[in-house]
Amino acid sequence: MPTTPACIFCRILTGEAEASLVYEDENLAAFLDIFPMVHGHSLVVPRRHLAGLADLDSDLGGKMIDAGRKLATAMRPALGCQGVNLFLADGTAAGQTVFHVHLHVLPRSGGDGFGLRRGLHSPPARHELEEQARRLRKALGSPS
Ligand code: 5GP
Ligand code: ZN
Repeated sequence: MPTTPACIFCRILTGEAEASLVYEDENLAAFLDIFPMVHGHSLVVPRRHLAGLADLDSDLGGKMIDAGRKLATAMRPALGCQGVNLFLADGTAAGQTVFHVHLHVLPRSGGDGFGLRRGLHSPPARHELEEQARRLRKALGSPS
C-alpha cells in the first residue's frame, strides 16, 4: 500500500508509530484518537495515503462509511453510549489537521459536552436556497 513517511497516520499503519487499534481489514484501519473529543473517539482511515475526499473513489468511500457504521453499532454495547456522530473534516477551512483522509466516529452520551455550533436561527429566503441548489446541481452535472 502506498504510504507517506511524513504522515502520522501512515506511520501508525506501518507500525512505526503507536496507536490503539480497534478495527482493521484489507483496505482500512480504525484506531483511537490520541486527543479524544469524547471517550472512545475513533478514526477510520484508508491504508493507502489519500489526502482528502476528492482522492477517494466511491468504493473506498463506501467502505469507510460502512466501517464507521460497524464501529457505531459496536460502541453502544462496548462503551455504553447512547448515540454516535460521524464527522469528516475535508480541508483546512473545515478543520482538517491530518491530511490523510479519516472519518471520526464519536460515541455520544447525554451531557458529554460535544456539539456543533448552529448558525442561522431562521431559514434563508427560498430564492437563496434555490440559487445555491441550482449552482450545486450544475457542478454535479445534473439537469437544471
Ligand atoms: P482532523 O483535525 O484532521 O479532522 O483530525 C485529526 C485527528 O487526528 C485529531 O482528532 C487528532 O487528535 C488526531 N491525531 C493527531 N495525531 C495523532 C496521533 O499521533 N495518533 C492518534 N491516534 N491520533 C492523532
Ligand atoms: Zn498518510
